[in-house]
Amino acid sequence: MLGRRSMDGKRREIVRLGHPVLRQRAEEIPRERFGTRFLRDLERDLLRTMFEDSGVGLAAPQIAAPVRAFAYYVPGEDDEDEVSPRVVFNPVLTLEGEPTELGWEGCLSIPGLRGLVSRHPRVRVAGFDSDGQPVQIDAEGFHARVIQHEHDHLDGIVFLDRMTDMQSLTFEEEWDRYGDRKDLPVEV
Ligand SMILES: [Zn+2]
Repeated sequence: MLGRRSMDGKRREIVRLGHPVLRQRAEEIPRERFGTRFLRDLERDLLRTMFEDSGVGLAAPQIAAPVRAFAYYVPGEDDEDEVSPRVVFNPVLTLEGEPTELGWEGCLSIPGLRGLVSRHPRVRVAGFDSDGQPVQIDAEGFHARVIQHEHDHLDGIVFLDRMTDMQSLTFEEEWDRYGDRKDLPVEV
């Protein structure tokens, strides 16, 4: 599952809520940066850090790099197909359907907390790989949720901002103890 390239990277410190970089709009990556060591290192570091910290997604601002890039993967549990680890640069997101899919989210920059967030059921992403080759991704379900969460980080938005009902906000330990009730949709 874990490719060689992702293990070559450095584990970077994940910044937490309160660090100003998480509230800035991240910058577009200039064309001349594609195919350079800078971008390949960023790619490897994002993947390595995401795995070391057991995340399913990590945006560049979360390692204090204020550029438009995020890593993610979908482990492929329940009805979801596995999506291999990847990094998308300069992603442009198109939301499809209504934002009515309620599911649990957490964030490596907001450790220990979970909350219910409504997301669009499907998204399309147009972006680039680290060599500057165009990529297009169609995603639905949890895959679409992860992409929306990570893309928000590029605009300085965190999942707490997307919660319409703060009553569901819970610590992970309490979520494990009380949150896994049949009347709650469980996605994380
Ligand atoms: Zn996050």
